Amino acid sequence: MSREQITHQNQTQGADQKAEEERPMMEGAAAEPVAGGKVWLVGAGPSDAGLMTLRGKAVLEQADVVVYDKLVGQGIMALIPPETELINVGKEAGRHPVPQEEINHILLREARKGRRVVRLKGGDPFVFGRGGEELELLCEWGIPFEIVPGITSAVAVPAYNGIPVTHRDFCSSFHVITGHTKNKPEAEINYKALVDMGGTCIFLMGITAMEGICQGLLSAGMEPTVAAAVLERGTTAHQRRVVSDIAHLPEAAKAAQIRTPAIIVVGEVCTLADRFSWAEQRPLGGLKIAVTRPRDRSSRLAEQLSLFGAEVVLLPAIQTQPVVENQALSTALAHIGEYDWLVFTSPAGVQIFFAELLQRRMDIRSLAGIQIAAIGQATRQAIEERGLFTDLMPQVYSGETLGRLLADRLLQERRRGKSGRVLLPRARKGTEDVIRPLLSEGFAVTDIALYDTLLQAENPKARWDESVDYTTFTSASTVQGFAAMHPEIDYSAVKAVCIGQQTAKAAAGLGMQVFISKEATMDSMTELLMELSSREAGKMAQAESGEAQQ
Ligand code: SAH
Repeated sequence: MSREQITHQNQTQGADQKAEEERPMMEGAAAEPVAGGKVWLVGAGPSDAGLMTLRGKAVLEQADVVVYDKLVGQGIMALIPPETELINVGKEAGRHPVPQEEINHILLREARKGRRVVRLKGGDPFVFGRGGEELELLCEWGIPFEIVPGITSAVAVPAYNGIPVTHRDFCSSFHVITGHTKNKPEAEINYKALVDMGGTCIFLMGITAMEGICQGLLSAGMEPTVAAAVLERGTTAHQRRVVSDIAHLPEAAKAAQIRTPAIIVVGEVCTLADRFSWAEQRPLGGLKIAVTRPRDRSSRLAEQLSLFGAEVVLLPAIQTQPVVENQALSTALAHIGEYDWLVFTSPAGVQIFFAELLQRRMDIRSLAGIQIAAIGQATRQAIEERGLFTDLMPQVYSGETLGRLLADRLLQERRRGKSGRVLLPRARKGTEDVIRPLLSEGFAVTDIALYDTLLQAENPKARWDESVDYTTFTSASTVQGFAAMHPEIDYSAVKAVCIGQQTAKAAAGLGMQVFISKEATMDSMTELLMELSSREAGKMAQAESGEAQQ
């Protein structure tokens, strides 16, 4: 028997024994621990979704229930599949945080139902995260668990502000200290020892106690000119930094109205921030951008935006669902050789069409001899990814233009004796615009409903809020889905970056502020966002120089 098996067996025996002894105390617990129940203590990192570990993400995606608190980034919450249950144990406006004891019991209760429980925490679970306390009860009950460490804010937040926590010119150690002094007298921090060590001091949970902390260091003999910084909402698009010296830090932080979550960094390394700051300098740095594409098709745009430095929030607004047992499609495919043109009007259509071919064990050679049309570049790209080139694509992304262009081509071909039969596999609610010019010239179009576009219902995991700077829409249906998901927000506050005229019309119809990319591609949308970003930066610089002149 392997060591792992032995350990597991011991844990299970332990659980049985505990169940016997303590069952009456456990409110709502199952009579026996159900096999398979397990808890993963996962560190979500400081906020930026890109800073969660690969393992953390994998564990999160297979969870039955996620117990989370307020420091977990919005981008990370949006990674949790819609069907996963959520339990919020963090402090929110008007609500007290769930006491630690109760959190421990929630974890135990859920695991004993046989569920996969993820306890998701900001930063690293063992750095002032009470991870140790949460394991005590699980251990007593023999519940198996795993720890997935996270990137702690103590190191990552300075890094995102251009502050290396160690630097050979300045220090040879760094110290992470809690500034939370509620139940402990302040004297518990050994300021003298910190000053003597001469390392960088990083205080977490220290915003309310900032004056006391700075005073403590000064009284212990720290030079008042030692550099210090407060770093707010680090690693998010809207992170803020105040750099000063230890004597003036509280005053400067107050003037800037710094709020929690923020960390205090004390040490000469803080002087490097201005030279090394980089996060804001990225082409999309400082922007929080929502992506409303369907979950399975959001990754390319989201990745691109985040590579350019944006904070990306996934708010899938629509979902595509293939038509099941598609008889019309089967019939058309059985006669595929009789068609002259195959026309695609969306990347989703391409993906589902080829999946259907595969399912019927037809390979792409069955399309030999058929010409292929695409409505726009994204669709064309999806076709090319399947090893096929398109024969026709309009310059302007619109159903009508595609229909007209195709009708012209078919007229030419008719003169050469072709019948001009068109297969159009697409969304069920597709517009008539594509078909009209073809029908009026007497061509036969087989319009196949390949998939339905479902609007996403309200989803507590994917909430839009006013801190989102721009929301991207890649089709009119994403706008409709967004409206269905967020029925109560003020649409005039939404800055909508739209892929084309149709999409823009839908967004403008709701009263959104509309921006349209030059081309109907995601690259072009990204370029537009960069332009908007540099325009905003320009405006800010202007405002600052205006202030300086006054
Ligand atoms: N386990 C966490 C820390 C929990 S204590 C970690 O390893 O990062 C909570 C404190 O962490 C906050 O009061 C704040 O001081 C700090 N913190 C967490 N996330 C932060 C962020 N994005 N920006 C600034 N400070 C943060």
